[in-house]
Amino acid sequence: MSTHEKRYVGIDLGGTNLKLGLVSADGKVLRRLSSPTQAKHGPAHVLERMAQAVRDLCKAAGIGLEDVAAVGAAAPGPLDTKEGVVLFAPNMPGWRNIHVRDALAKALDRPIVVENDANAAGYGEFRCGAGRTVRDMIILTLGTGLGGGIIIGGRMFRGHTDTGAELGHTVIKYGGRRCGCGITGCLEAYASCTAVVARTQEELATGVASSLAGREDITCKDVFDAAAAGDAFADHIVKDTADYLAIGITSLLHVLNPEMVVLTGGMMGAGDKFLNLVRQRVKETAFERAASSCEIRWSELGGDAGIVGAALAAEAFERTGQQA
Ligand SMILES: [Zn+2]
Repeated sequence: MSTHEKRYVGIDLGGTNLKLGLVSADGKVLRRLSSPTQAKHGPAHVLERMAQAVRDLCKAAGIGLEDVAAVGAAAPGPLDTKEGVVLFAPNMPGWRNIHVRDALAKALDRPIVVENDANAAGYGEFRCGAGRTVRDMIILTLGTGLGGGIIIGGRMFRGHTDTGAELGHTVIKYGGRRCGCGITGCLEAYASCTAVVARTQEELATGVASSLAGREDITCKDVFDAAAAGDAFADHIVKDTADYLAIGITSLLHVLNPEMVVLTGGMMGAGDKFLNLVRQRVKETAFERAASSCEIRWSELGGDAGIVGAALAAEAFERTGQQA
């Protein structure tokens, strides 16, 4: 089988859903599959579901497991990517020191690569999405949490013990809001979708006037929609969110001087007006040379970034014998 015909499977392991893609060597998603993770049944059950989902995906695509050159799994961290171990996954009960690579290799008899989910999303964008023309880029996944990925010189940056690129847990305010990780003042505690909703609800509880007042089931999108519809309170939340993100991005530009910062996740629904606000604030706060040479943009792959990045990390490993 020639290189261009090789097929890879990317798995995006989330607390709620397993998303899979059959992916070509150049990053095209040929077939998708999604199924509930059923995390409450514990790691062994989830690993079995992951293996079965790979078999189901192959069956649906009319190919055999032997036609898959390698499988990549993007998992929530912290991880030991060299050993393919999830050290801890706060949103999945029982996930401590789970040997994902060995379990999947045993079940599927294929080469397996395990990557941090945000790093994998960044790698997907780098290989065949928004960042395909650059060598140094950062991705921020703005969703339930705030994940980070760093690509330097075309390779994923993981740090000395795989604990690098935790960009959501860079501190932007001393003694600030408490983050889910236990630290106070993390970027995630201000600029994730969850944080936008929390900040909105806290201020609403003080009795401010807003079209959102009295509603209990507010989503991040509701806040952006209300701002777009002229709600002054929602507009202040949106502007503050842009400011928080801009502070975080400015620090990242000053550390890494990347060519591109890609933003992805649920907050993409906020649209270009919000993106332009973030760009403007970064331009105002960062060193001119760092800001003017860096493009800040939304992701191209969107929800596919994790499966594409995981599959292409597996492709890179299979091709070079080294981590991507
Ligand atoms: Zn944190």
